[in-house]
Order: sequence, then C-alpha cells, then structure tokens
Amino acid sequence: MEIEIGPISERGMGFLILLREGGKMKDLIKRAAEDLIKSAYAIALTGAGISTESGIPDFRGPSGIWTKDPEAEKRAYQSYEKFRKNPKEYWKERLSGPSLLGDLRKVMPNPGHYALAELEQIGILQWVITQNVDNLHQRGGSQKVLDYHGNAFKLRCVSCHARYDPNVFDLERLNRENQLPPLCKKCNGAIKSDVVHFNEPIPPDVAERSFEEASQCDLMLICGTSAVVYPFANLPRVAKRRQLEKGIGIILIEINAEPTPLTEQKISDYLIQGKTGQILPQIVEEVKRIGKEYGK
Ligand code: NAD
Repeated sequence: MEIEIGPISERGMGFLILLREGGKMKDLIKRAAEDLIKSAYAIALTGAGISTESGIPDFRGPSGIWTKDPEAEKRAYQSYEKFRKNPKEYWKERLSGPSLLGDLRKVMPNPGHYALAELEQIGILQWVITQNVDNLHQRGGSQKVLDYHGNAFKLRCVSCHARYDPNVFDLERLNRENQLPPLCKKCNGAIKSDVVHFNEPIPPDVAERSFEEASQCDLMLICGTSAVVYPFANLPRVAKRRQLEKGIGIILIEINAEPTPLTEQKISDYLIQGKTGQILPQIVEEVKRIGKEYGK
C-alpha cells in the first residue's frame, strides 16, 4: 500500500521539526549518560549559567549583568587594584555597601546542582570545579568542590591562602577601631574576600589541584559557562591536548544555553544545548536507568 503524502502546513512542519529536535535531544542525553557510565574518572566544570535557574544572573548570557550594564564590567575590574593599593578602603567600601552574602543566602540550589551532587553520590563524578562563588554546589550536596574563583562565604589571606569563616573576625568592631584590614591568624597577612577579583591570580592551591584534575580525567562535563574567562577556560584545553597528544580517549561534553568557543573550536565533542536545570536531571535519570546494564 502506498501512502500519499500531501502538503504539510507551516504549523505541521514546525511540529515535525520540534519532534526531530526532541528526538535529537533524547539521543544526546542517552549518549551523555552512556559516556558517563563508561568513564573511569569524570569531572564537571561549571559556570554562572548553572546558577541562573536559582535566580542569580550570569555575566554574559542574554540577560547577563554585563550584557545589560557594560559599566558594571569596568567596575568589577577595579576591585583587586583597590585592595592592593589600599586594603583599608577596600574593606570600608565592602562594609558600607549592600551585602552580597544576604542575597546569596536567600537563593536555593536548583535541579542542575542537585543532579551533579547525585552523580557524585552514585560514584561517577569525582570533582566539581566551579567558577561560581555562590556556594550552591555545596548546599546542593556536592562534597568535592573546587571553588576556582573563591567562595563568597569565605575570607582568604593573600599571603598564605588560609581560608576563614567571616564570623571569625568582628569586622564591624575592626572598622570602628580603625583596624581594618583583618589580619591572618597564621601569618599576619592581609585578609580579603575569598572571591577572586578580576586581575587577581587564582590561589595556587586551587589552581594546581584543578590542573591536576583536568589532566587526569577521561570525561569532562562542562556546564553553563561561556568559557572565555582565563585561566579557567584553559582546563578543557588541557584535557583536549592530552587527548590529541597521547591518543587517550577523553570525552568533553558541553551543556549550555548557546554554543561557546569550545563548541566552535571543536574542543568539546558535543553540545547539549539547553538549560542545565532541565538536562542534567534527565542525564542522571538515564544513568540510573541504564547503569544496571553496565553493573554500576
Ligand atoms: P558567563 O556569564 O560568562 O556565561 C554563562 C553561560 O551560561 C552563557 O554562555 C549562557 O548562555 C549560559 N547559560 C545561562 N543560563 C543557562 C542555563 N540555565 N543553562 C545552561 N546554560 C546557561 O559565566 P562564566 O563563564 O561562569 O564566567 C563569568 C564569571 O563570573 C565567572 O568567573 C564567575 O566566577 C562569575 N560569576 C559567578 C556567578 C555565581 O557565582 N553564580 C554569577 C555571575 C558571574
């Protein structure tokens, strides 16, 4: 029997394209789940995009803070210079301005954060290396997190890199008694926020550990980052170089709302385009579903 195919209306064609895209998305999710299950040492890199669904805007996405206000980007570049030139003024300004921590305490982890924590609990994900300073991976249950750009809930000594809970220091009293900046209890060095400001070097402990992890992983899940901030953006390249030079099978998967330089330069093997809060939980479900076949 021959089926006669008549002209498809524009609406019908849209539906067919949607079906095809939906099918493609399903295939990619299945592929990522299989790649994760087969991996021996998987790590995740994350950026501001994974926290947008928690209500924290990113910098460079379509609704990003800098996309909307380019002057904010210029101001951000001045913070570290301010600390270096005059740590007292840096602290006075911080204490008189609005509390970033207050805002960050109000937001909650989203399904993307929980999905990565679950992948760690299942025993598949070894580390999350995040550019985010919002502490949401830790609050979402991830135990092994490297805060590449620091953590807004910590302070750090610029000399010996010791981290402190901000409550260790009575900042208001130090301000009243004109004794800012707070000083390190181990080496007497000046203390700043743990957040790595622009033009500030990445603390060597976290930089070295992240490099080691990127050098030994066989799968990298890169989630919600425009991958343009260096040296963080080198980490996928470290993995890719090892793949090319040593012929080792390393898989780099991007989950992002839009293509990035990693997609365009073919550093990532494939992009699953969409929201991390929707895609990551589906990958975890698929991992759990087919994991049994692989004895995981
Ligand atoms: P970015 O703003 O440069 O890029 C974010 C990327 O994520 C964009 O490509 C965007 O399209 C994508 N994206 C946005 N929402 C998404 C979603 N729901 N699912 C998937 N993708 C999504 O962010 P970056 O690469 O992390 O670099 C910005 C720098 O700013 C970092 O160094 C970071 O430390 C800092 N930052 C941190 C926070 C935070 O702690 N939450 C927020 C803003 C900026």
